[in-house]
Amino acid sequence: MIDERRLIMLPGPTNVPDRVMRAMLKPMINHRGPEFVSLLDSVSEGLKYVFETKQDVYVLTSSGTGAVECAISNVVNPGDKVVVPVLGYFSERVKEKVMRHGGKVVEIPVEWGNAPTAKQIEDAVKKEKNVKLIAVVHNETSTGVTVRELPEICRIAEENDALILADSISILGGDHLPVDEWNIDLCVTGSQKCLACPPGLAMVSVGKRAWETIEKKTVKPPYYFDLGSIRDYASRKETPFTPAISLYYALDEALKMIREEGLEKRFQRHAECAKAFYSGFEALGLKPYASENVRSNTVIAINLPSGVDSAEIREIMKERYKVVVSGGLGKIRQLILRIGCMGTISEAEVFTTINAFENALADLKYPVKIGAGIEGARKVFHS
Ligand code: PLP
Repeated sequence: MIDERRLIMLPGPTNVPDRVMRAMLKPMINHRGPEFVSLLDSVSEGLKYVFETKQDVYVLTSSGTGAVECAISNVVNPGDKVVVPVLGYFSERVKEKVMRHGGKVVEIPVEWGNAPTAKQIEDAVKKEKNVKLIAVVHNETSTGVTVRELPEICRIAEENDALILADSISILGGDHLPVDEWNIDLCVTGSQKCLACPPGLAMVSVGKRAWETIEKKTVKPPYYFDLGSIRDYASRKETPFTPAISLYYALDEALKMIREEGLEKRFQRHAECAKAFYSGFEALGLKPYASENVRSNTVIAINLPSGVDSAEIREIMKERYKVVVSGGLGKIRQLILRIGCMGTISEAEVFTTINAFENALADLKYPVKIGAGIEGARKVFHS
């Protein structure tokens, strides 16, 4: 039988190391027993390392969206003002979640491919007054943009007595994100991206200022996502509801691998691979979708050459060259390719992906010089 495994270069889920997959084969345990206590201890310690925080970090059995909704619904009362820069598909979703929980959205529209500036946020916060929360998608996965001014935005939040929520789902573990140093009140991520774990778990860190707001909240949050209750259970090393135990084992192993590598080295590896991707595509005459100074190191979004059909080229890459990449989302669905530069990313995956892309272009009779992209990437790794 032909092996159906493919190189998963999606912006999540990503390739998962065998070591992490194997961890899920451990026997089932009682989630209210001593084995789970030590598992939870180990996971919490690992998460504090990756989030670079001494704050509490909670694991939810849900995808990343659950953790974003949890964070919003635990601090936003109906009528509260929430500043949301909308720079792509996922920040649109943040806006919708805020509205769903009764928040009054103060939208900062940002042209897709760009990031909001700290100045834009500051102006909005000063103009509106009494802003409860600034909710920022830190790495906009739909456009390949990183909000590089997040530290300044966090400072603005604190100075103006607002909380800051960072949706760092597609960046945490792949690029700098010291939660305590930047004073992020609520930071959210998911298991299936830069942590190189299977999908199904989400994490949220909760800081002191966030707790003060949560404790004063008048409208109760959803039963499943009640941070107060989650904290109570966590104090006795339990979760309120049945956790996805096998995924906790996977997460624990993934976090151990991150500690073995060390954060700094891991960030450098992601940055170098991203640079090689951008250089490789540039050598093929293609431009990134994101503006230069805000390009992500974890999600590479590339404008497709005109006349090349997104679904068609992705199908060739997948079936013929065994590399799975993603198309665009929302209004740029047909226009770009998105590639995950996450988790286990290395020189090998960069070359394999660019090779698959070049060959798929040639198969579509697009005039491409085979090897040019590889050479562009090679320059970065061998400079
Ligand atoms: N926010 C961002 C920035 C994302 O990239 C994603 C998923 O790609 C989500 C939210 C939603 O996460 P999930 O699909 O795990 O619910």
